[in-house]
Amino acid sequence: LHNTTDIPDEVRARHTELCRELDDHSYRYYLGKPVISDAEYDTLMGELRGIEDSYPQLVTQDSPTQKVGAPISVDFAEVEHLVRMESLGNAFDTEELNAWADRASAEVPVDAYLCELKIDGLAVDLVYERGRLVRAATRGDGRVGEDITLNVRTIDAVPEQLDESVRPAPELLEVRGEVFLPVKEFGELNERITATGEHTPFANPRNAAAGSLRQKDPRVTATRPLSMIVHGVGAYSPASDGVAFTSQSQAYTLLGEWGLPLSDRYRVVDSMAKVRDYVDHYRANRHEPAYEIDGIVIKVDDFGLQRRLGSTSRAPRWAIAYKYPPEEVTTRLVDIKVGV
Ligand code: NAD
Repeated sequence: LHNTTDIPDEVRARHTELCRELDDHSYRYYLGKPVISDAEYDTLMGELRGIEDSYPQLVTQDSPTQKVGAPISVDFAEVEHLVRMESLGNAFDTEELNAWADRASAEVPVDAYLCELKIDGLAVDLVYERGRLVRAATRGDGRVGEDITLNVRTIDAVPEQLDESVRPAPELLEVRGEVFLPVKEFGELNERITATGEHTPFANPRNAAAGSLRQKDPRVTATRPLSMIVHGVGAYSPASDGVAFTSQSQAYTLLGEWGLPLSDRYRVVDSMAKVRDYVDHYRANRHEPAYEIDGIVIKVDDFGLQRRLGSTSRAPRWAIAYKYPPEEVTTRLVDIKVGV
């Protein structure tokens, strides 16, 4: 290990500069107004990680490598999440994906992986009490998010009341998911915006979803065809009939019965070879879903094993995002077409 005095001045300066730049980009991104591409952001983050790997004494709690999201804005009331909302670790190739699986399997006996699409949207937390939606919030910094309940109430896919015809809902149920704008609706929204001149067109569906959800006036959000897919459970109390969540896939079945919006594209598989098949399938068929994806999320299915694997300061050890390469060229062409 180097000690503090061993850090060359130029390394220390670059570290400070990267932290400041990444914080700034993060803030803009969560407002739906990024000024650099995700790939450029990931490259800067990679450089910061490289420096911190060589000089671990530069790692502080405040470093972008250790944090989730960005501080919340003053436009919305603060909401403390019942259970922390995390980010995800990344794998950019098969080697990194296998390394994640090897680390998990070295600790616990993994026999099932849940594979699903990584929707390029915005993380949102929903709290249901006695089956009724009482609060919706952005992820914020993972601990505290922004209260966007009124805006989320305008999304058709989000039930106001859970369906209890199959089984009663728990007294308390906190779920997480992704709010997004489907690609077709994104195109139509941009055409409308361009025609009326009310706004500059959005660069991509993600920015459009972020901008639409963080409106101060929920009537504006109501005109944006947002949708949502749920992909996680936060806090919950056992249902009155004693139902407990035992795995990611079993939880999805119950959430679906309660009428929460789920993807029909997730798969539970029993080997990493099948995980790789799933990753390859969507690499070749990335535009098959009605919404944009930026990768695949792989989760250890069993909740007991998830608990045993635990989390780092910013991401669970029991899940990983396999990121596909960016499609900047197409995006830019679309932007130009939309802009004229
Ligand atoms: P992330 O987007 O890489 O992954 C975590 C998020 O994935 C979760 O919060 C969740 O909402 C979402 N997700 C989508 N589908 C999911 C599923 N099926 N299961 C679980 N989660 C799912 O991480 P992040 O911390 O939100 O953001 C970091 C990324 O954002 C960077 O890698 C970069 O690409 C981008 N970014 C870009 C800029 C910019 O300026 N362009 C700035 C900041 C961040």
